[in-house]
Amino acid sequence: MSMKAVVFRGPFDVGIEQRPRSQLKDSTDAIVRVNIAGICGSELHMYRGHQQTGTGHIMGHEFVGIVEEIGSDVSSFQPGDEVVSIFSAVWGLTNRCINGTAFGTPLLDGGQAEYVRVPFADGTLQHAPTNLDRRLLIMMCDIFPTGYYGSQRAIEGLKTQYNSKLTSFTPKETHGIAQNGAEENEQNLSYFSNSAIGKIQESTIVVIGCGPVGICAIAAARWEGIKKVFAIDSVEDRLVEAASFGAIPILLGKDDPKEHIMKVTNNRGADAVVEVVGNKAALRSAFELLRPCGILSSVGFHQDELPFTALEFYQANITVNFGRVPVRTIFDDALRCLTANQDKMQNYISHELPLNEAARGYRIFEQTKARKVILKI
Ligand SMILES: [Zn+2]
Repeated sequence: MSMKAVVFRGPFDVGIEQRPRSQLKDSTDAIVRVNIAGICGSELHMYRGHQQTGTGHIMGHEFVGIVEEIGSDVSSFQPGDEVVSIFSAVWGLTNRCINGTAFGTPLLDGGQAEYVRVPFADGTLQHAPTNLDRRLLIMMCDIFPTGYYGSQRAIEGLKTQYNSKLTSFTPKETHGIAQNGAEENEQNLSYFSNSAIGKIQESTIVVIGCGPVGICAIAAARWEGIKKVFAIDSVEDRLVEAASFGAIPILLGKDDPKEHIMKVTNNRGADAVVEVVGNKAALRSAFELLRPCGILSSVGFHQDELPFTALEFYQANITVNFGRVPVRTIFDDALRCLTANQDKMQNYISHELPLNEAARGYRIFEQTKARKVILKI
């Protein structure tokens, strides 16, 4: 039996091919009949040829569907269950499963296909939550948890600072430096008499990149009560979307992000920057927008050298967090946040295409003519 699948043939070249239908290989596998597969921004690194990889594999690390078949050691799922897969096959509830393999790579065929083999099904699959709009399920595979994680790390970093004697700020230390654009003196004193949570909510957080993940990061930061979330992008439509989630837009090419952030923070810089783009310029910009001792939370899929030196790090005293979200670990928390935001997310999926039009989906997404593309199977 064969199935239709989206195959990576090389840069800017993906297309539908007939492949043997996915089959169980290990006893911990499941076969999922895919209903919807997403095209993710991190796949564009491969699509554009920036990420060195082989060819010939099936694309896609975002998919939801129905369990078709299970291996003998799968205990949490039955054929017929509606499931969401996380983007990487993982054995257990760990931050980084040593056996983890991302879907849609030469090591593991992805879910932009009629069927997909899911290794470690008990760890990799999640039962589809019943309280979430079905159209939004696909966001739980990767982008929402990733954006949520980017903001959470920033907020957790700020909490640590405000609770720590070593790095927390006192009114005396901040003399002459107004917090977040607040007036000095009494207002500053009252600022510090607030609870740690209150302080964090008064922080300035910048999100660089307002594609799908950036919007999720903004939604998560706003959900945590952060009042001043700035959104940076070069695409106006994305900033309109960011603003609808309560972010303050900064348009690259028109506004100067550094000048803008310095102005609103009285030359102090942002308390935290969440960078989701995954290129050097965005990372450098994140570094430059931060205040001394700020938090840089990067979830972008970077391929290059770091755009700052060890000395610059040393001088800035910043805290840097990099890397991939442990989706399974934070799945429930991220889901709560998405569920709370689901009404606002309704317009978020801009293009629903049949699988046959996957090549067009990649093209328009790559050209930022689409917000989020999903393939219906
Ligand atoms: Zn992704």
